[in-house]
Amino acid sequence: MKELQGKTALVTGASRGIGAAAAQELAKLGVSVVLAARSAGDIEALAEDIRGAGGKAEAVVCDVVRYADVAAAVSRCQRAFGSLDILVNNAGVIEPIARLAESDPEEWDKVVDINFKGVYHGLRAAVPVMQAQGGGVIVNISSGAATGAMEGWSHYCSTKAAVLSLTRCADKEYREHGIRVVGLSPGTVATDMQVAIKASGVNPVSQLDPSVHIPADWPARAIAWLCTEEAADLCGTDFSLKDDAGRRRAGLIT
Ligand code: NAP
Repeated sequence: MKELQGKTALVTGASRGIGAAAAQELAKLGVSVVLAARSAGDIEALAEDIRGAGGKAEAVVCDVVRYADVAAAVSRCQRAFGSLDILVNNAGVIEPIARLAESDPEEWDKVVDINFKGVYHGLRAAVPVMQAQGGGVIVNISSGAATGAMEGWSHYCSTKAAVLSLTRCADKEYREHGIRVVGLSPGTVATDMQVAIKASGVNPVSQLDPSVHIPADWPARAIAWLCTEEAADLCGTDFSLKDDAGRRRAGLIT
């Protein structure tokens, strides 16, 4: 993945889980990373760790619900490292898990703001910068929930479906401008999100044994691979790590 060396990436939701692992993986490959999330202490500590290991990293407090925060994070990439080549739209939540009739309209709305509008904000802020630079890669973190229905997850399934639609629309509009937009459906991953799902006891995903979840560094490595030319044919689609074919193609298994 030598082609990623010297690039700059913005990773949203980088304070833990898949986002934190992706930031570490990209930094290992020589990418300068800007870590964005609401938990200032966690992203500062991770940026410090990456710098301690010889990488380049900055932390920027960012709530993806606020467009101004996301635009400021993009500007930080340019100011600190001179460009924005990769955006990983990873920030996402699943709580509160509730069937429609018991759902809280305000909480439901908040999930739309984070999972769906947060991704739009990332695209809106990054695309003009990438266009001016002559290209870039945007990885939107999706889910099997984008195309599958699950009880208690109406907010999550519908926002992930909306993110897949954004991936397709952005690909249609910007492929010819050298911007590759691709989704990643990671399967189930051992992060705090799966702990919350298990605790809910709602739907078959909550019944899975934790041993079936893949470690966060698998989607992290897949994200890095999706940023390479080798994955260019996948633009405008959700690439899935759920089965062996996807895992093999991303180089996670032989
Ligand atoms: P996680 O461990 O709960 O991490 C979620 C991340 O999102 C945190 O860094 C959190 O940071 C950030 N975040 C939440 N709201 C935010 C906001 N308003 N602004 C900025 N950042 C925000 O979950 P994860 O499993 O790593 O999930 C990462 C992505 O993968 C999500 O999009 C999720 O839907 C997707 N995914 C996960 C799984 C799975 O099995 N784990 C499966 C399919 C898809 P702060 O709280 O510090 O802001």
